Amino acid sequence: MTERDQLFRAFLAAGDAACPVCAYNLRATESQCCPECGAQLELRLGSSDLRLAPWLAGIVTAAVLIGLQLVLVIIGVVTLLVTLFRPDSTFLDPGDEEFVVLLPFALGSAAVPGALIFLLVRYRRWLWRRRPRIQWALVALSLVITVSATLAILFIATVVS
Ligand SMILES: [Zn+2]
Repeated sequence: MTERDQLFRAFLAAGDAACPVCAYNLRATESQCCPECGAQLELRLGSSDLRLAPWLAGIVTAAVLIGLQLVLVIIGVVTLLVTLFRPDSTFLDPGDEEFVVLLPFALGSAAVPGALIFLLVRYRRWLWRRRPRIQWALVALSLVITVSATLAILFIATVVS
């Protein structure tokens, strides 16, 4: 029996521990499978200081922003196609150019929240080491910058078109 197996048994011998899959009380279980549901069990370290809420809030908000941008792009493409295939369509009618100019900008502005997701994933451990209040502040600040940059790109697009 390895030292890890001994630690596993000693841990379960020492007190109550719920199976992470079915919540069966594993106290004094000797096997590395849950006797109730058969799930494979392992002993690991956790930390109550790992708070994922600010990080997850940043990821989810950026993903929602990308979703909104893509909805705008889809509406733009559908409108453009409907305009082009109108019976009396003369490509490009006045006003059609706006869509042609706006679409790349709409796609480009979706890259801003995309960049935020990349940074949040790439530097997650750096963020998790900060105190929770600092984490919330950094995520909120980065979301304000992301929304401002997205709106700025769309504003420039409407001015250009
Ligand atoms: Zn179980």
